[in-house]
This record gives sequence, structure tokens and C-alpha cells, in this order.
Amino acid sequence: NKISIAIDGPAGAGKSTIAKLIARTMNLTYIDTGAMYRAITFKILRDRIDLSNEIKLLDFLNQTKIDIVNGEILLDDLLITEKLRTPEINHYVSNIAQIPIVRKKMVELQRRIAANHNVIMDGRDIGTTVLPNATHKFFITASIEERAQRRYNELCIKGFHQDLQEVQAEIEQRDKIDTERTISPLKKHENAILIDTTGMTIEEVTDKILSYIK
Ligand code: C5P
Repeated sequence: NKISIAIDGPAGAGKSTIAKLIARTMNLTYIDTGAMYRAITFKILRDRIDLSNEIKLLDFLNQTKIDIVNGEILLDDLLITEKLRTPEINHYVSNIAQIPIVRKKMVELQRRIAANHNVIMDGRDIGTTVLPNATHKFFITASIEERAQRRYNELCIKGFHQDLQEVQAEIEQRDKIDTERTISPLKKHENAILIDTTGMTIEEVTDKILSYIK
């Protein structure tokens, strides 16, 4: 009787912060699926992979190893968690995440992890596609202004200087691509509990989610 908690929602809604806290509280394995798409994007940019050649891309994917150990992402056995939340990756990730063979590989990996662990997984298509039988489903959102402000603060802490307007435009663009793509778009599953976190503290959101689980 495995536990599987799906947390979906748009960029900057606070999914990963909250999922990490709940994972710790409930002793679950935390899987950040956005980080997996970011890791692939990181390697595609680093190695200048030609995305128009599907055979080469498939080859590239077959030669790429992604693992998650204690919530950290390993790309080909190298720890790269710290390199994934950059303006450059933010800019390209949604375009790469809509490529069918990229999604196929990531979804397979995500399902394999969930089959072997009690998981809390955050992303865009977890409740709808990756884990349709998840024991709990949540859809977390917040106003665009608040989501942009949260991402802006996060980038500042890391030493990136993008202005708030630019960060907001980037998030809107990413949400648009994620919502409008044909394969497993960002969408609330009909059974998912909707939580609008605008004006809520991290603790309030976490407590609310925990109250639904227990
Ligand atoms: O959650 P995060 O902002 O790190 O996700 C980065 C991008 O990865 C998203 O904007 C989306 O394009 C893609 N993604 C996805 N499916 C998921 C998780 C993330 O397509 N389950």
C-alpha cells in the first residue's frame, strides 16, 4: 500500500518548497520532476545538441543517466542540483519539455521511482498522467504577481539579476507553453484539491495539505 502524493501547478506556486517539507514530515521520497526536465535542458545546452534531428536526440537520451538521490539530481553521476535554476534554463526548459521522446523517458523514470518508494512528486502532469492512481492529488497555484515575486527573490539569492517584469514575463511564457502543449499539458486533475496560496505562508499551506492527507 504505497503512498503517492501528486502536486501539480504553474511555475512559482511554491510546489517544491512545500513538497520538500511534507516529504520530511511524512518520511516520503521527494521527486522534483521539473528538475529532471531542467537536467536534460542543461545537458542539451551544454553539449549543443541538435533538437531537429530526432535520431540523434534519441541517441542522446539513451546515453543520458538521471538519478535522484536524497532529493538531489545526478546527471551522468554528477551532482547538478545547483546548476538547474538559472535564467537560461528557465528560458529553454518548456520548449524541451514538450518534445515527445523527452517526456516519454522522464515519465518512465518517474513511474519507476514511484513503484519502489513512497513518494511525493511535484510537476505539471503528475496527477493527470504520471501517477493517475496517486493516493492524494493537489493543484497548487497563486496570483501571477506573487509567483513572479517568489521566483524573483529566489533568483536574487542565487546572484542572478533579472528585473521583476522580466521574471514575470518568463513565467507567463512558460505557463503558456506548458498549458498549451499537446502531450500531457499543465492541467488540474478533476479529483485534485485546489489550493490558492496567494497570501499564505509556507507553513499554512503545508498544514492545509497535511490536514487533507491525515
Ligand atoms: O517546476 P519547474 O519550474 O522546475 O519546471 C520546469 C519546467 O519543466 C516546466 O516549466 C515545464 O515546462 C517542465 N515540466 C514538465 N512536466 C513536469 C515538470 C516540469 O513539463 N512534470
